[in-house]
Amino acid sequence: MSSISKMKSILSPKLSAFSPHLPKPQTISLASNASPSESLVRHNSSCISNHLHLKSTPLLSNSFVCSSQSRNLQMEASRPPSGEIHVIVGPMFAGKTTTLLRRMQLESSSGRNVAIIKSSKDTRYGLDSIVTHDGFKLPCWALTNLSSFRQKFGPDAYDQLDVIGIDEAQFFEDLYDFCCGAADHDGKTVIVAGLDGNYLRRSFGSVLDIIPIADSVTKLTARCEICGKRAFFTLRKVEETQVELIGGSEVYMPVCRQHYVSGQVAMETARYVLESHKVECSSHT
Ligand SMILES: [Zn+2]
Repeated sequence: MSSISKMKSILSPKLSAFSPHLPKPQTISLASNASPSESLVRHNSSCISNHLHLKSTPLLSNSFVCSSQSRNLQMEASRPPSGEIHVIVGPMFAGKTTTLLRRMQLESSSGRNVAIIKSSKDTRYGLDSIVTHDGFKLPCWALTNLSSFRQKFGPDAYDQLDVIGIDEAQFFEDLYDFCCGAADHDGKTVIVAGLDGNYLRRSFGSVLDIIPIADSVTKLTARCEICGKRAFFTLRKVEETQVELIGGSEVYMPVCRQHYVSGQVAMETARYVLESHKVECSSHT
C-alpha cells in the first residue's frame, strides 16, 4: 500500500460524513451555544482542510497527520463557543434601541447573562440606564470607549457574560476591534444598534465597518414625519453643522427620500435667507 493510500484510509472514515448519502453539514443550524452537531461540523471541516493540505504535499508522514489532527482537536476543545455579531441600523426614531432591548430581554429570560453598553456622550436619559423613545428602561454601562468595558465590568464577571448589547454604536471608535475580540476570541454574542448614516446620509462612525464581520444585519425604518411613508433618513431641523449633535425630536425628524431631498433644499434656503439677513443687519450698524 502506498503512503498516500494509507493516508486516505486513515482519513476516509471521517470524510465519509460528506458522502451524498448522509445529511450535508451546512444544513445543520449553528446555534449560539456549541451543540454536539456543531462540533461535528467543525471537526469534519478540519479534516477536510487536512485532506486538501495532504493532496498538495504528498510527502507528509502519517504520524504528522495524526499529531496535527489531535492538536487541532485539543485546540477546538479549549476554545470558548463561537460568538455572534448582530447589527441593527436605521435612521433615528426607527426603534433600534427598542429592538435591542427586546432582544436583550429575550436572551436574559432564556437564562443567558447579559450586559448593555451605551455611549457616555448621550446623557439625555441619565447614564445608568437605557431608555427607548417610548419610555422602556433597562440598566446599562455608560462608557467613552468599549476597550475599557472588560476592566470596568470585572474580568471574572466578563468571562461569565453571554450577550453584550451596544447602543448608539456610532459613538464608539473602537467598535470593530471590540466586536472582533468579543465574538471571535471570547465567544460572546454581540448585538449592536446604531445609526448607519448621519444627517448628511454619510457613514456614521464605525457602524458600517462591522458589516463584514456580522452574522446578521437588520435595517429598520421609521415613519416620515411629513407624509407618513417609510422613512430611511434623519433630517436635521436646526442650523448646527457639526456631525455629532445629540438631540431628540427637537433637532431631528425621520423622513422619506422625497422629503429628505426637499427638506435639505428648505434648510439650505433658510440658511441662505438667515445669512443674507445677518449681512443686511451688519451693514446697517
Ligand atoms: Zn415623506
